[in-house]
Amino acid sequence: MDVSVSARVSGSVSNGATHADAYGRASLSVGDGGEINALQARAAAGQLSPVEQGTLARLMDRAGGGTAAGTASAKAPKAHSGAKTAADFTVTGGNKQDKADLNAALKYLQQTDSSGKAVSPTATKLIAKMKEGATIHIIHDGNDSYEPSTGVLNWDPKSGLKVTSGEGIQSAALGLAHEMDHEVNGTVGKPTGDGYQNTEEKRVITGSETTIAHDLGEPTRKDHYGSTVVMTTANAHTEVKSGKIVDGAIAASATTRH
Ligand SMILES: [Zn+2]
Repeated sequence: MDVSVSARVSGSVSNGATHADAYGRASLSVGDGGEINALQARAAAGQLSPVEQGTLARLMDRAGGGTAAGTASAKAPKAHSGAKTAADFTVTGGNKQDKADLNAALKYLQQTDSSGKAVSPTATKLIAKMKEGATIHIIHDGNDSYEPSTGVLNWDPKSGLKVTSGEGIQSAALGLAHEMDHEVNGTVGKPTGDGYQNTEEKRVITGSETTIAHDLGEPTRKDHYGSTVVMTTANAHTEVKSGKIVDGAIAASATTRH
């Protein structure tokens, strides 16, 4: 568990080797075999330039060393009246509680005010645009990601993210929205050479993630980093206004992984 999370939150070259084989599978066109092998060999040796890392990248993740890119396909929006629930998705890998957590997160993201208006129109629209029956695979290692090659969104229902460039802990629910943006609007990322790591992560973090965080009173961040924190609920987060954890609590203390 620590190993995979470490690969997620660290930008160091040595961690890149962990993902080298996986990265090589996607986002490279057929016929590039020689180049792929050469890149993979050099990735394993930690010798890739940022651009080459982008070429090899596969996963779009919530935080960390993943130089996201790949073949994200924008899914066509499908008409859906009312808020979506777990029943609108193909949920794999989880138990009853995980499904309840997913429902709680979806409800939280699509919450309305007393007049029936979406508190976060951005989150509500994003969820509405998710393809009916899209796969949400439940994980418990905090390593949220979206995999363009398979269309699988991996989500940990109890994983908060302690942001290093902001104040406090973002909810697991916000992590779900982050990955949904990759799935719905994903583009091929190019290395940015800064804390955002690549253009796709920068697009999501400065775009929907920040907007939704503001809408829901959660902390924002100014990079692609953070450390995972196990929370008691999917919606537990630091309320920016008070600086306190609301909608739940911390179940296990934060570990910064580099
Ligand atoms: Zn991401």
